[in-house]
Amino acid sequence: MDHYVVFGNPIGHSKSPLIHRLFAEQTGQQLDYNTALAPLDGFADYARDFFATGRGGNVTVPFKEQAFALADQLTERARRAGAVNTLARQADGTLLGDNTDGAGLVRDLTVNCGLALRGKRILLLGAGGAVRGVLEPLLAEQPEVLVIANRTVEKAEQLAREFADLGPLSASGFDWLEEPVDVIINATSASLSGELPPIAPSLIEPGVTFCYDMMYGKEPTAFCRWASEHGAVRVVDGLGMLVEQAAEAFMLWRGVRPDSAPVLAEMRRLLAQG
Ligand code: NDP
Repeated sequence: MDHYVVFGNPIGHSKSPLIHRLFAEQTGQQLDYNTALAPLDGFADYARDFFATGRGGNVTVPFKEQAFALADQLTERARRAGAVNTLARQADGTLLGDNTDGAGLVRDLTVNCGLALRGKRILLLGAGGAVRGVLEPLLAEQPEVLVIANRTVEKAEQLAREFADLGPLSASGFDWLEEPVDVIINATSASLSGELPPIAPSLIEPGVTFCYDMMYGKEPTAFCRWASEHGAVRVVDGLGMLVEQAAEAFMLWRGVRPDSAPVLAEMRRLLAQG
């Protein structure tokens, strides 16, 4: 039996074990997948111990940067992101670090939601780890423009400089923006505390603007409610991104792409039950 885990602290709430068990069942792969509560001051040693026998791990808050440092090799998208959410032990015992968050988001938007991003005006709210991970895959879809808006404007400016070679990027404060955009993606953690980034409702063109919150929950997030109230054409939460980033990791580990649609439907059903 091959062993996989998700490293985090805290980690009890993680849905990854269930998602990967459903993928394994569906594809007939023999593996087990559990949570791993890594110590806050000892991630690297803890992960190395696990990889003495373990085959792969996902990495969540607060260890993505430490996993980046731990990896012996990096995929190009992980190198650009500066963070690793997937580790795979290779045949020679070295660790490969990947970042599947961005690919997961883009697949949820383009495949599950049927949204073409090419030529679109996209507004990304936030400038933390999640944004860093999704910039490269989003720009690869060739939007007309991608604006990063953040509470701390300097962080948005820093990211815009760092990724400027990949496409039409700019940085902004929340209250500088008024013109409607085609897509708004909330990648702030404001929804965690039921808050909303202070952006103008005029950014939504009723019946046109697509709104996405990376957060998800049993009830619609504050951002999703706000978007619906102001006439967004469609409002989607981040459960699909979670399932799709897991599918990308599963493919890296096992060489098989699971069918994510029935797993997303099952996760949605379980989330609604609470
Ligand atoms: P970080 O802690 O790295 O960044 C948090 C960001 O949110 C910063 O830009 C911060 O602004 C901003 N922020 C925090 N509170 C507020 C507020 N009250 N008002 C406005 N802005 C605020 O977090 P991550 O980037 O790792 O994660 C962001 C969100 O994305 C989380 O909700 C996380 O759960 C979700 N996520 C979902 C995934 C999925 O698979 N669905 C995958 C990864 C992340 P400032 O810089 O000014 O502090």
